[in-house]
Amino acid sequence: MSPPALAESFRRLIAATGPISLAHYMAEANARYYASRDPLGSAGDFITAPEISQMFGEMVGVWLADIWMRAGKPGPVLYVEPGPGRGTLARDCLKVAARFGLNPQVHFVETSPVLRAAQREVVPHAHWHNDLSTLPTNAPMLLVANEFLDALPIRQLVKTPRGWRERMVGVMADEAGHPAFAPMAGELPMDAAVPEGAREAEAGTIIETCPAAAAVVSEISRRLATQGGAALLIDYGYDTVQTGSTLQALRAHQHHDPFTAPGEADLTALVDFATAAEVARRDGARVLGTVGQGAWLNAMGIGTRAAALAQSSPAHAKSIAAALERLTHPEQMGTLFKVMGLVAPGWPDGAGF
Ligand code: SAH
Repeated sequence: MSPPALAESFRRLIAATGPISLAHYMAEANARYYASRDPLGSAGDFITAPEISQMFGEMVGVWLADIWMRAGKPGPVLYVEPGPGRGTLARDCLKVAARFGLNPQVHFVETSPVLRAAQREVVPHAHWHNDLSTLPTNAPMLLVANEFLDALPIRQLVKTPRGWRERMVGVMADEAGHPAFAPMAGELPMDAAVPEGAREAEAGTIIETCPAAAAVVSEISRRLATQGGAALLIDYGYDTVQTGSTLQALRAHQHHDPFTAPGEADLTALVDFATAAEVARRDGARVLGTVGQGAWLNAMGIGTRAAALAQSSPAHAKSIAAALERLTHPEQMGTLFKVMGLVAPGWPDGAGF
């Protein structure tokens, strides 16, 4: 028997105890969403950089191998990937790394049984974890996360005429009079949760934070400081503080109202790289910088790689050029997507920052 629709259990919960926090709504919706399907690719709901072209994973592999060599080839070393999707990035990246003599032990952080099975097909020797806490502590870590932080639950605070409130999800009648999920301000004053300098704001102003992403960046940074290593965090996001809701839902490659059909669409929010950098520094990592994905891939030599691939397989030259454009063009994934580099204190600078 399939589990009851998440919408039904949310409706019952809200009827019994009142509106739930947006973080609660997003966490459960995404857990249900990812546990039940492979959402990637043209037949799914969205496509990610590693699924667009092998060149993406290859550039990540070159970056990791380069910094590992500059660090004096420490061994043994761990490859850690939170949210590996179908395992495509790991496969392409580890293949290139091996050419440089880098053969790390592979650790995936993945909660979805469906995606774990897909990952086992392409990287059978990996070790799996539900969260970062059980990763080994005895070796330097080379960590890559692509479109992982954006799926973690956000919290929103909204300015009302009565002061700051948490943005909750409740049930209201829609235009046709049917009950529907909708965002609404909570009852409890939340002014203390807003930084003093930001408290004066027009009614309707929304401040979004992602405590779960901050916790992940904190754990990565503390591990870099004690274990050594380097990390690349790649996602769509912003690197100067902003206000407003960035919550969005994607289904079959179309934007969708995040409050209809929870658990049936991918819910994401832009990653706040400014806060991530602050957390990383506070917890002992060295921040190499945050740059646009296009600039970073170009600096890693993706243009040369595309030319070589096109030369060895002229029949695919057009699709290779299209993939290159999609990954790097400022109006495609080149600017909105960003690459943040973190290293352990004492580790060398990485390329492209
Ligand atoms: N990195 C992949 C997939 C991105 S989709 C790619 O670029 O193609 C998001 C991934 O994060 C999926 O593998 C999903 O199952 C996983 N994920 C989402 N929330 C998670 C959580 N809270 N804990 C562990 N994995 C999670």
